[in-house]
Amino acid sequence: MPRITLPDGDTREFDHPVSCAEVAESISPALAKNAVGARINGELHDLNTTIEHDADLRLITARPGEKEPDPDALYLMRHSCAHVMAEAIQRLVPGVLLVYGPPLDNGFYYDMYVPNARPLSSEDFATIEEEMGRIIAEDKPFTRYEMPVDDGMKKLTDEGSKYKLDNAERAIEAGSGELSWYATGEPGSDWEDLCRGPHVPSTGRIGAWKVTSLASSYWHGDADSDRLTRVYGTAFTDRKQLKRYVRQLEEAKERDHRVLNRQLKLFHIDEAVGQGLVLWTPNGSYVRQELQTFMNEELRKQGYHQVFTPHIGKLSLYRTSGHFPYYQESQYPPLIQPQHLQHMAVEGSSCADLSNQMKDGEIDGYLLKPMNCPHHIKIYSSEQHSYRDLPIRLAEYGVVYRWEQSGEVGGMTRVRSFAQDDAHIFCTEDQVQQEVLSCLELVKILFDTLGMKEFRVRVGLRDPDSSKYVGEAASWDLAEQACREAARIFGVPFTEEAGEAAFYGPKIDIILKDVLGREWQTGTVQVDYNLRERFDLTYIGPDNQPHRPVMIHRTIFGSLERFVGILIEHFAGAFPTWLAPEQARVLPISEKSLDYGYEVKDRLFKEGVRATIDGSDERIQAKIKVATQMKIPYLLVVGPRDAEQRAVSVRARGIRHDLGAIGVDAFQEAVLREIASRGAETVLSEHFPDARSKAG
Ligand SMILES: [Zn+2]
Ligand SMILES: [Zn+2]
Repeated sequence: MPRITLPDGDTREFDHPVSCAEVAESISPALAKNAVGARINGELHDLNTTIEHDADLRLITARPGEKEPDPDALYLMRHSCAHVMAEAIQRLVPGVLLVYGPPLDNGFYYDMYVPNARPLSSEDFATIEEEMGRIIAEDKPFTRYEMPVDDGMKKLTDEGSKYKLDNAERAIEAGSGELSWYATGEPGSDWEDLCRGPHVPSTGRIGAWKVTSLASSYWHGDADSDRLTRVYGTAFTDRKQLKRYVRQLEEAKERDHRVLNRQLKLFHIDEAVGQGLVLWTPNGSYVRQELQTFMNEELRKQGYHQVFTPHIGKLSLYRTSGHFPYYQESQYPPLIQPQHLQHMAVEGSSCADLSNQMKDGEIDGYLLKPMNCPHHIKIYSSEQHSYRDLPIRLAEYGVVYRWEQSGEVGGMTRVRSFAQDDAHIFCTEDQVQQEVLSCLELVKILFDTLGMKEFRVRVGLRDPDSSKYVGEAASWDLAEQACREAARIFGVPFTEEAGEAAFYGPKIDIILKDVLGREWQTGTVQVDYNLRERFDLTYIGPDNQPHRPVMIHRTIFGSLERFVGILIEHFAGAFPTWLAPEQARVLPISEKSLDYGYEVKDRLFKEGVRATIDGSDERIQAKIKVATQMKIPYLLVVGPRDAEQRAVSVRARGIRHDLGAIGVDAFQEAVLREIASRGAETVLSEHFPDARSKAG
């Protein structure tokens, strides 16, 4: 008779096979009321699934008003909502055939064949949502029933939808011993869909729903096959959650760095240069340069040395490191020396010959570097080191090249070439923990300065059941313990994930949460027990014998392209003054104040403020509007009276009205202090204390 173990370790015994709903009821009526499904031994199931044997059980609940909905509950609700939407559309539009409707991370979609005579448009959304509302209000149960394969296939053949027949055939091919349906209500009389499940118990458990968008798709994703309509929607436990999500979607669209870039002109991607190859414009370069200068100061404090290395290296170098030929698909093809190419042309060799000869090392060539590590290793091993020299920390903003599929590239976040703020640390085993901790401290200094408060750390450890890892078990134990300890001392939330280590060592990933609550992986710290063997790295220990150093790869920004892309979205283009490409713009009221305007601009610029002037004939309101769209921190309006008083009338970003005049000297001094403090102080705090609270 089943003995049920609950997540808190509590157990319950039953003298009969028991449904998850019954278990919930036995714990508390409130739990039973809010339960929507269950994980039995880790697998997601319907709430009314019967448990016959001993099992671990986690009940999944959805409570209206809760802040953090359970992802499993949303998954069940969204899959169920896809059924409800499909039923609603079939009621409204005759001739619609259903193809496939899976849940997604933030909603669901349903691919359907829609007759040409009655295409769907966004104007149908309200009607569809209303019809869904009717089905949900009836609170119909999702009722599962099964059929043996033969009977099921006969049923589907009789019904005549080639799409559902195809789905069933695929399920059978994948090893399914029966076919299952979910009826919304009574099997036989109510709407139903061929489906594996699971679902929430009834339609009434779908708290809030929305049809979000339409797209066209093809059957099996094949452009030569049937053209389908993909209808997207989402569902949440309650209206409040849904509203928050819709607001987030709108804001994410407005903050999209590709959209903001049209005004801010931070980067340019040109087909003539190549997809995924980012050109940093002067504006974007200011941002990057400031970030690098800032980081360089911190690196100097931590005893790093900066190095420069070329963008290519010999294939034999990457054969030693293991990057070639193993990761060929994600690399640009090798560059072949001209004499080899000529020689092969004369011999009439094929591409396959060439490829094989490169793999075996019969001919050599060069690779655009996919990683900076081998170059740094060669700097390390160019001299002999004593234990007294360690740790040695080599840093470089090294550009690396990866061949991403063209469908995946776009903007600054998916690129084919990027600058990593890469560093490699060579140290002894007992230095690992301190070095890892120092890397984490750099992350904290960076995020604190940028005002990014929410981030977490993921410690990737070995999978205890796998044998793919290189290096001694004892070394691993030490390094895992060092990473764990560093994360603990560091004091931000962290998780340990078994199986997430690289094959060559444990690692720490930094995950940043932006203002919209989206998570981005930025920096990473990885311990490496592989390359030191491959490159035969040594240092001379106190015993006068050679020893292997531990190698640590680490990056704080990750890729600068990606990081700046994330920053643009995080700040919605309104960079803090120290990062802003244009820090102040002088706006003369009329031609009469032009000379004074230039004088102010030139002087600020000379003193180190990135100041510009709008010397056009436009009216002052128009000039303010243009500058506001550029999100410049300070606009300095100058008229005849300002000229007389050697003053500027300040408008600060985020504050609608003119703050009033201050002397040019005072403004210059305050803005320079703001820039030098990287935002810790502002012009507002001293000169316009009232304005500061409004600036937000
Ligand atoms: Zn389903
Ligand atoms: Zn590396």
